[in-house]
Amino acid sequence: MSADKSKTLLLGVDLGGTDTKLGLVSDAGKILDQMKIPTRADKPARDVIERIAAALKKLLKRNRVQPADILGIGFGSPGPLSTKRGVVIDTPNLGWKNVPVRTWLRELIDLPMVLHNDANAAAYGEFWKGAGRGSEVMVLYTLGTGVGGGICLNNDLWVGPGENAAELGHMVINFNGPQCPCGNYGCLEAHASAKAVVRNALGEIAMGRETSLRKLKLEDVTAKRVFEAAKAGDKVAQRIFHRVGWALGLASGNLVNILNAEMFVFGGAMSGAWEFLYDAIVEGCRASILAMPISKIKFVRAQLGENAGIIGAAGLALKEFGA
Ligand SMILES: [Zn+2]
Repeated sequence: MSADKSKTLLLGVDLGGTDTKLGLVSDAGKILDQMKIPTRADKPARDVIERIAAALKKLLKRNRVQPADILGIGFGSPGPLSTKRGVVIDTPNLGWKNVPVRTWLRELIDLPMVLHNDANAAAYGEFWKGAGRGSEVMVLYTLGTGVGGGICLNNDLWVGPGENAAELGHMVINFNGPQCPCGNYGCLEAHASAKAVVRNALGEIAMGRETSLRKLKLEDVTAKRVFEAAKAGDKVAQRIFHRVGWALGLASGNLVNILNAEMFVFGGAMSGAWEFLYDAIVEGCRASILAMPISKIKFVRAQLGENAGIIGAAGLALKEFGA
């Protein structure tokens, strides 16, 4: 294997607050081998990068792959960050500020590397090999403690000139709404995150609504508990998810009107409540769209699960360094 054309392998890294996932990925988007290491965000950033480099070398060695056979590394990290400079600018959950990830990684493992926002990498993964395959304009939401996402259009990931596009969770959908951790009011995240579910549930309990959630201690009210109550037939709990779905539908309607987005993919832990979200998503979108008939728009669950990040990061490396 000497000519660049013969290189068909990629490495994908998905850096998380708790764990970091690494994968050896083929140029067809298949994970050939993968591992997971604790991120240890309590240690200095350099230390974290050194352990990731060591793990990547281990992954290559156990698959008998030479670094020379690798086309490049795709690295997904919480942002904001600069893809052009390969620098993570500021990540509250890792405590990183201006960390030169690309420079450091290259000192340790001499391969070209491209850095992207983790939610964007996951979006590209779903677009390339998951639920968004074949679409022209795709939006991925990751629903968890917060709301993240990414946008793929024209067969590429959209990062924009500021390099941090698609902060979907901070789309304001209700300027009289609750305050978001970002400081603004009525962001999608303030209406559709796991935290929003808990806030809504506590509100319903405080208003004295007839719900099984009242039997819980207030500190035991979690999004998962609200989901379990909804599954058991609790109408109040079901309505809470309906409101989350409506907020997602409204946000999606904005994206249909602006971009003619046609494919909306939902991942993250909260997408597990799909059966209570889907109808409201469609309704909320139908109520707000002007540009396209609802029948042309698809709302689907993500397909790649936890692997979306490494597959997408590898795909972005292929895009950057492939022929
Ligand atoms: Zn916000």
